Amino acid sequence: MATFNNTDLAAFKDVWVFCEQRQGKLMPTDFELISEGRKLADELGVELCGLLLGDNVEGLAKELGGYGADKVIVCDHPLLKDYTTDAYAKVICDVIEELKPEAFLIGATNIGRDLGPRCAARLHTGLCADCTHLDVDMPIYKDFLKESSTLAAEKIEGLNSAMVLGEKHDVSRDLKMTRPAFGGHLMATIICPRFRPTMATVRPGVMKKNAFDQAKADACQIVKPAFELSESDMQTEVVEIVKAAKKLVDLIGADFIVSVGRGISKDVEGGIKLAEELAAELGGVVGGSRATIDSGWLSADHQVGQTGKTVHPKVYVALGISGAIQHKAGMQDSECIIAVNKNETAPIFEIADYGICGDLFKVTPMLTEAIRAAKAAK
Ligand code: FAD
Repeated sequence: MATFNNTDLAAFKDVWVFCEQRQGKLMPTDFELISEGRKLADELGVELCGLLLGDNVEGLAKELGGYGADKVIVCDHPLLKDYTTDAYAKVICDVIEELKPEAFLIGATNIGRDLGPRCAARLHTGLCADCTHLDVDMPIYKDFLKESSTLAAEKIEGLNSAMVLGEKHDVSRDLKMTRPAFGGHLMATIICPRFRPTMATVRPGVMKKNAFDQAKADACQIVKPAFELSESDMQTEVVEIVKAAKKLVDLIGADFIVSVGRGISKDVEGGIKLAEELAAELGGVVGGSRATIDSGWLSADHQVGQTGKTVHPKVYVALGISGAIQHKAGMQDSECIIAVNKNETAPIFEIADYGICGDLFKVTPMLTEAIRAAKAAK
């Protein structure tokens, strides 16, 4: 085993992405993170590697190349068939200590949120959780700040270094990891200047997926490093995987979302029914603000926002949603936003492409009927 000194920054190279598979199926987050990792690897001038663990999963690797991975490191072992924290963390940390990536990205799925901190603690490095934006290149990062922050231009131009342990540190090669802070009221950018790899978990649905390229998939290299794993490394055993019987709503993959908010309170069942009818006419699904989840009107998988899902459908319809910053954080990148609210000063109107000031119980059936009529006229 090579010596591992995580403060020798120059010894670390390449961007890695943990590619999660469940029962031999890659997760949508893998393709989003590979696409984002491609951008970061290009900015750093290094290679992008997927890291795939499982039992007999080599056949999945080439697809990751189609979204931008130069290489996929495959760790195949019967004990890696199903995710367990101890086995996955051991193998990942051993491979990282051997091959020394500069940055390591993990999807903020349930598995990623469990695995990331365990690996970061074992490698004694920093992890920024739940990132919504990543940059390396300073001009690109500064453009992002100019567009999306309230910082003064001179302040942004001066952001080339940071004081670390009393010394000036050049941040040009650091991964700039941006995430919501203070309940979503602020965005914070975090760097990990002293240790490598820099680790980040990234919220599913936030990063845009590249188009699949078969030639790149064919060219993707597969690397199978040696590693050791035995039952004595594991304190947990997966006895059975029981899938929840209920069908969860697929907000992240939906092109059309009709979300309801506390505005339906005077007739909750009626309001949800109106949203379902509109969603059905559009070929979409129903979502909700946190107020509707906290009130028990919709199940948690419907929640859009900072602590729910981040979505970017073609059309997002907000019915009786005020537009709190935490809700907007999850839907403001929708291609077209239509808001219905009886309060003309509701903040949702600030980001809506089309705003209808009125009672959702009157407006929603009119929208559904108009769409039905337009479809019939075709
Ligand atoms: P309200 O703010 O009460 O708005 C209801 C709206 O309905 C009002 O604008 C009203 O004018 C309108 N209305 C009422 N009756 C009608 C009618 N008949 N027709 C038309 N309009 C009508 N929220 C999220 O949504 N997602 C999150 O992920 C999330 N995460 C959070 C994380 C943290 C740490 C915190 C502190 C908060 C979070 N919240 C989140 C909560 C958020 O701050 C708001 O409280 C919530 O989004 C409000 O939901 P709402 O818009 O449905 O309700």
